Amino acid sequence: MKQFLKRFGTILTLTVLLMATANPAVLGAAAEPDYSEENDVATADEGMVVSAHPLASEAGYDVLAKGGTAMDAAIAMQYVLTVAEPMMSGIGGGGFMMVYEGDTGETSIINSRERAPGGADSEMFLDDEGEALPFEERVRSGKSVGVPGTLRGLEEAHASWGTIDMAELIAPAISLAEEGFAIDDFLANQIADNAEKLQATAASEVFFNEQEPLAEGDVLVQEDLAKTLSLIRDNGVDYFYNSEISKAAANAVQEFGGSMTAEDLSNYEVTWDEPIWGEFNGYDIATMPPPSSGGVFMLQMLGILDDFDLSQYDINSPEKYHLLAEAMHLAYADRAEYAGDPEFVDIPVEGLLHPDYIDERRALISMDEVNEKPEAGDPWEYQEGTDEVDNVEQPGDKVDGQTTHFSVADKYGNVVSYTTTIEQVFGSGIMVPGYGFMLNNELTDFDAEPGGANEVQPDKRPLSSMTPTIVFDNGTPSMTAGSPGGQTIITSVLQTIINAYEYELDVHSAVTEPRIFTSDLESYRFEEGVPQEVINQLNEMGHNFEDESEPIGNVSSIQIDPETGEFTGATDKNRNGAALGVQSQK
Ligand code: GLU
Repeated sequence: MKQFLKRFGTILTLTVLLMATANPAVLGAAAEPDYSEENDVATADEGMVVSAHPLASEAGYDVLAKGGTAMDAAIAMQYVLTVAEPMMSGIGGGGFMMVYEGDTGETSIINSRERAPGGADSEMFLDDEGEALPFEERVRSGKSVGVPGTLRGLEEAHASWGTIDMAELIAPAISLAEEGFAIDDFLANQIADNAEKLQATAASEVFFNEQEPLAEGDVLVQEDLAKTLSLIRDNGVDYFYNSEISKAAANAVQEFGGSMTAEDLSNYEVTWDEPIWGEFNGYDIATMPPPSSGGVFMLQMLGILDDFDLSQYDINSPEKYHLLAEAMHLAYADRAEYAGDPEFVDIPVEGLLHPDYIDERRALISMDEVNEKPEAGDPWEYQEGTDEVDNVEQPGDKVDGQTTHFSVADKYGNVVSYTTTIEQVFGSGIMVPGYGFMLNNELTDFDAEPGGANEVQPDKRPLSSMTPTIVFDNGTPSMTAGSPGGQTIITSVLQTIINAYEYELDVHSAVTEPRIFTSDLESYRFEEGVPQEVINQLNEMGHNFEDESEPIGNVSSIQIDPETGEFTGATDKNRNGAALGVQSQK
């Protein structure tokens, strides 16, 4: 039956297909997710989940509804995302889970970022002539696969905060992988767009039917993944890292030219990180420290922009976008120079966020002119230490990845803001044969050209942009935010916070308000909704926005009313996510 269902989109006649679409019962036990826009925003008083996939949101909702904590719900959601959004995150990847604990008032981060294997070296992305391999080649090579951390992160979260058995939290993901679910337009497009990459690996057996990519409405069944998740359920997370699974993962990586061994998996450890804190308009912000560049540079841009009182300008005005673009250029110039894994290099976080340094950077912005040469400053003047690493020019062919962000808030006062990834869509494209999970290509977040702060080194974590964030109002959580989108993540979260706390938009509007991105004078992007005449005015000024709009990131967020404690969850326009709230029976 399952095989039949799996094929249903491509081998049945159109008539049967139409009948099946009209009659969901034909799908048997397969889930029929609600991909409608109705779930884009929700309000409730006893808990809220927001994610980029309705099935993950449902799993989190069920956990909260039966009294579980936000952390329990987040674990169940990450497992379901491995199945329902297999191209974005999962047990073959890593991420940053920020948790505010209602009981203690503490905010901490479980950092499950992938690490380079012991056999990695700084020249591994160079060819025989010493030239950087093209990005697409780097992505598809086993060398791009970092040692996955997601499961160790979930294990740690469960050991610290779990109130429901891990076996129960993993169960919805297993059923979903076994029974399958109806693919939406978004996943269908991603399979088609990545066909070549996927067809070169065991993934071809899962996402294709006789060479044809599965299409919208087809049922995606993942039997091998169900088996792997069942093994984890029965034997614990440790089994993944020390068993037939770790050996199979290492073999798959080596087959594609990487060095990862089963021992690398066995050695993997997460870290507990403290958030970095900043302030904007009187609100405190907890966000992601290095090895992400996200938090530092988002706070730096907020600091630069704070004094401009942006809301004196219309939200769609040229003045606002000009100031955003100028602040972005300055921050990304610093980012190229001063970012990496703090276990290996000194990052001048204090200097980058020092008020006097921020004043110095702000002074480089003029209201009427584009800064034609935005360059890195010297934050080391504002903190002890010296700059020991040079910036090394990179090939510049890196494509922004995709990932997923989700948030949970519960009735006990706990809040989770979790960005989780396998880097590019479908990661390296390598599926572990017989075990059904995708392996990340996170190590392409390292510099390809060695010598800089972010060069490859064994056991090191590549520079990230992921920016899971919680904003606080007088010490209590006020809003979560986060997004996918590679280096655009930082500016997507930035603009969401500005929309909510400077322009005072409600959370759904804050998340969906069209965004811009630019890291230098050649990388300008904008989303549909930024007025064309404003783009024209900005380009006349010397900016360089491209002709066509395009989606940037996919923010999701939960806002908590300071007076009533009520939660409002909101998802972005760029995917079919869902906000689901738990409402008391009052
Ligand atoms: N690899 C990216 C990062 O860590 C996340 C994936 C994405 O680009 O969304 O910043």
